[in-house]
Order: sequence, then C-alpha cells, then structure tokens
Amino acid sequence: MSNNLKFETLQLHAGQEEVEATTRSRAVPIYQTTSYTFKDSEHGANLFALKEFGNIYTRIMNPTTDVFEKRVAALEGGVAALAVGSGQAAQFIALNNILTVGDNFVTTSNLYGGTYNQFKVAFKRLGIEVRFTEGETAADYENLIDKNTKAIYLETIGNPRFNIPDFEAIADIAKKYDIPLVVDNTFGAAGYLFRPLEHGAHVVVQSATKWIGGHGTSYRWCDRGWR
Ligand SMILES: *Cc1c(COP(=O)(O)O)cnc(C)c1O
Repeated sequence: MSNNLKFETLQLHAGQEEVEATTRSRAVPIYQTTSYTFKDSEHGANLFALKEFGNIYTRIMNPTTDVFEKRVAALEGGVAALAVGSGQAAQFIALNNILTVGDNFVTTSNLYGGTYNQFKVAFKRLGIEVRFTEGETAADYENLIDKNTKAIYLETIGNPRFNIPDFEAIADIAKKYDIPLVVDNTFGAAGYLFRPLEHGAHVVVQSATKWIGGHGTSYRWCDRGWR
C-alpha cells in the first residue's frame, strides 16, 4: 500500500489489499481455521518446502491476523509485524529472539509492572540478566553496558509514571555499541503519537489492549476494530 496515505487511512485500510473474492465482504473476514487445503499434493509439498508462499497452519499464518500484522507495521513504519497472544508475549518473544543464557539487556525499572516482573523473575530464570538503570539518562544506560549486553529496552512513555526517556540520546548509545533498541510503544498510541523506528529503534512491541483496542474489551481485531 502506498506510503503517501495518511495515518487515518492506514488505520482503516492498511493490510487489506484485496477484498475476499467469494463474498466481496467489506470487513476483513475472521478466518476461524487452524488448517488450509491444498490444490493438490504438489502444492502442499511446495508450501511446506517453502518453495511457494501460502497458508499452511494458523499458528504460523492466518489471513485475518495477516491484515492486522500488516496494518500495525504500516502504522509504525516498520517492514513487517508478528501478532501474538498478548503484549507480554510480544516483548518476551522479541527479547528471547535476541538473547540467550549469559547475555544481559539494559532497561529502566520505571516500566509497566507486568513487564518489570517478567524481566526480574522470568528472564532471570532463563539465565538472562536484566540490568535496571539508576536514572533515565543515556549515561545511565551506557554505564551498564558490557560485552554481554545484547539489547536496550525502554517504553516510549513509561506506564504508569509517564516517564519519558531521552529517546534519541539512548538510541545513539544503542548505535554506538551496535545493540538493538527494543521499544514498547504501547503509550505511543500505535504510532499515532510517536514512531520509535523513525528515531533509532530497531524493534517495536505493543500491547493491543490499550490504544490499539481502545474499547476495554477482550476482543481480538475484527471489522469493527477488535474481536
Ligand atoms: C498493558 C501493557 C503491557 C502488557 O500487555 P498485555 O497485552 O496485557 O500483555 C505492556 N506494556 C505496556 C506499556 C502496557 O501498558
């Protein structure tokens, strides 16, 4: 989809490049399927061999989720997105993909409470050390970096303290040490207030229960927003 489209248009249409051909449904259909059929055995074999792109299994790809992923990527100005079951799962997967036992990452303790506990308890049990800064300046982050530091993590606007990191200065530190900067942009309102990727972040995670959902419901994304 064209990059010239405004944020409001992307909010409504990004990712839904074609309407569903059989019904011409305006809304994105909810594909409540685990599995997909193949045209013939060769088609199935090619899909599983990754010789041809297409739907194989819903944990890996689902056409409804695909629209959501493309839409979030468009709103954030990213190349691609991955939707998972919760914000906590998103940040776990983003960091677990980068870090392994013996590594550490640097962050602040002024984080969303669930995130703080995930970092302090769950990552520790995996042998990943989380280093919490003393203050919020770039120097506070830099002071904790060593050769085993594999990521810097921060929230665009901290929940619940509304602490605002010195974003570009911290992004410069990430660049200086060639460390990925992972940002929880939940309070950046899905790219409406702030797009971390345009200011030096490498990976963005968000919870869809806040501004993306917006209705305080547990529905996942669908035609009227979320289901
Ligand atoms: C709510 C929230 C989360 C957690 O998201 P869940 O979808 O509840 O797992 C993470 N980060 C921030 C900043 C939040 O506000």
